[in-house]
Amino acid sequence: MIAEDMYELGSKKSTIRTIFEYGRQRAAVVGEENIFDFSLGNPNVPAPEFIRQAILDIVQQEDPCAVHGYTVAPGNPEVRETLARSINERFATKFSGSNLFMTAGAAAAITVCFKALSEAEDEFIAFAPFFPEYQCFVESTGAKLVVVPPQPQDFQIDFSAFRKRINRHTKAVIVNSPNNPSGVVYSAEVIKELAAILEEKSAEFGRTIFLIADEPYREIAYDGVEVPYLSQYYKNTLVCYSYSKSFSLPGERIGYIVIPDEITGFSKVYGAIAGAARVLTHVNAPSLFQKVVARCAGMPSDISIYRENRDLLYNGLVAAGFSCVKPQGAFYYSRRRWKRMTVLFVRKPRPMIYCSFPVVILAVRDIFGLLIV
Ligand code: PLP
Repeated sequence: MIAEDMYELGSKKSTIRTIFEYGRQRAAVVGEENIFDFSLGNPNVPAPEFIRQAILDIVQQEDPCAVHGYTVAPGNPEVRETLARSINERFATKFSGSNLFMTAGAAAAITVCFKALSEAEDEFIAFAPFFPEYQCFVESTGAKLVVVPPQPQDFQIDFSAFRKRINRHTKAVIVNSPNNPSGVVYSAEVIKELAAILEEKSAEFGRTIFLIADEPYREIAYDGVEVPYLSQYYKNTLVCYSYSKSFSLPGERIGYIVIPDEITGFSKVYGAIAGAARVLTHVNAPSLFQKVVARCAGMPSDISIYRENRDLLYNGLVAAGFSCVKPQGAFYYSRRRWKRMTVLFVRKPRPMIYCSFPVVILAVRDIFGLLIV
């Protein structure tokens, strides 16, 4: 009568969604001011002032039919040109607007990539710990998600475990750095080693193995750590970017995919991205926000509050006897035993800590929340 697998996905909520909804219910009873909800990666740092100004300027100055109308499927050409120039200035790349496909955030971008690449019996590899939605995004294409466990001491890539899992069915490998939920950043050396294995295995199996870079936390990196731009290391890379975190705009659903010219079979890959976006109805990303992010291209993200909270939290947890890897980026923290993982969402600093093991620890008086799964 119905698609049972879709029913399963829709009716059995993830733990994170369940907590988010519970938080909403409790807010109605005890008041919004008494709920500290750290379930979803919903930044409570407000969008920067320049975003508000850009929205006002666009709404007041530009033709409303264009502002609120359909764009061409891959997104407004001027917006894509502007964003490509901004990426080039930052990462010494050579993209043009025709290398970009605008999407409704990173979730749409990675889902479109999975759908565009997936053929019968394909496998996609993810490095644990990873954003749990990868599982259903991949499985919705009929492909299989293969998980590589991390090195528990530092959550970096365990290359020998990776080599055991890459095979003739591997279509792509997805990398998320800075990582949700471990907070690690993969260094240039790690990315070079990954790229070398992908080159080697693509040659051995006689088929291209793609790399998908999931980058919503690119700007949220601490202590000057470098976040390598992956297409500079491996030509068959699709970069999925989002403004959800860098500009605190998760509700506006805006991001893009970069499809470099150098990618093997560029026009087929770009065409498949467009086709996947079409069937998944991810064409024509939100029009107003395409214009907003183009006006704000290259503007800085203020990560000071995240850094402050990362330090407060890390020092506090270490002092309390937790063993943890100091997050180099994003706004999460994972305990070393990743199977019983602790996920944290950093919020406004205040000095009190309350915990209630083992199910959910939500309130650290507006500092952070922990979710044990
Ligand atoms: N990828 C990762 C690793 C995430 O943590 C998230 C959201 O938290 C997403 C993708 C989805 O981001 P967006 O809001 O841009 O769709």
